[in-house]
Amino acid sequence: MNLLIMGPAGAGKGTMSEKITEKYGIPHISSGDMFRAEIAGKTELGLKAQEYMVKGELVPDEITIGMVSNRIQQPDCKNGYLLDGFPRTLPQAVALSELTEKLGIPLEAIVVLTVEYDSLMRRITGRRICPKCGAIYNIYSLPSKVDGICDVCGGTLKQRSDDTEEGLKERLAEFDRQTRPVLDHFADKGLTKEVNASQPIEKVWEDVQKALEEFQ
Ligand code: AMP
Repeated sequence: MNLLIMGPAGAGKGTMSEKITEKYGIPHISSGDMFRAEIAGKTELGLKAQEYMVKGELVPDEITIGMVSNRIQQPDCKNGYLLDGFPRTLPQAVALSELTEKLGIPLEAIVVLTVEYDSLMRRITGRRICPKCGAIYNIYSLPSKVDGICDVCGGTLKQRSDDTEEGLKERLAEFDRQTRPVLDHFADKGLTKEVNASQPIEKVWEDVQKALEEFQ
C-alpha cells in the first residue's frame, strides 16, 4: 500500500510507522529522520536544514521536496511505501501527487493521528531516544530501567534538541499554519481516516489497522 501518516509532533507517528512497515513490509520514509541523518553526516543539506529545525520551523520546500523525491524513486518503493512527516505544506503535497502519479504509485490512504495538547506536551518533553539503536523512551510513561541508559543496548539516552516546550509550541503553530491545509486537501479527496492517538498504544494500533483495512 502507498501510505501517509500524519499528525502533530508527539502524536506517535514514529511508533505506529514501525508497526505499519513491519506488517506491510514497506519502507518507512520519514523526512525528519532523513534530515537528522544528514545533520549527523554533516552534509551541506544537513547544515542548511539544521538552521530551521533548531527553531522548530519547516525546512524550505525546495530542499525538502528534492530530498524526498529522490528517495521515493528508489526501487524499494515500487511495492508500497509509508511517508511520515511529508508532505507538510501544500506545494509539497502537489509535488508528491505529481511525482507519484507519474511513477504509477499514487497515495492510497492517509492515517491522521489526533491527540490533545497536554498529552502532546508530556510525550514531547519526556521523550528520550537512544542514538545507538533508535529505541524510544518517555521519562513519564515509559522510563528506561536505569535513568538515562538504554535498556536494549546500554547507549546513553538523548533528548532531541527540538523536544522542548518552546519547540513543541512552535511546531504546533507550524502544523496549524502549514499542514492543516494539506490535511483538508487530502480529506476533500476522501483519502483520510482519523484515529484517536490519546489511547494506549495497542488500542491505537488496533484502530490504525482497522482504518487501513477499510481502504484495502
Ligand atoms: P519530525 O521528526 O517529523 O518532527 O521533523 C523534525 C523537523 O524536521 C521539523 O520540525 C522540520 O523542521 C523538519 N521537517 C521534517 N519534515 C519536514 C517537511 N516535510 N517539510 C519541512 N520541514 C520538515
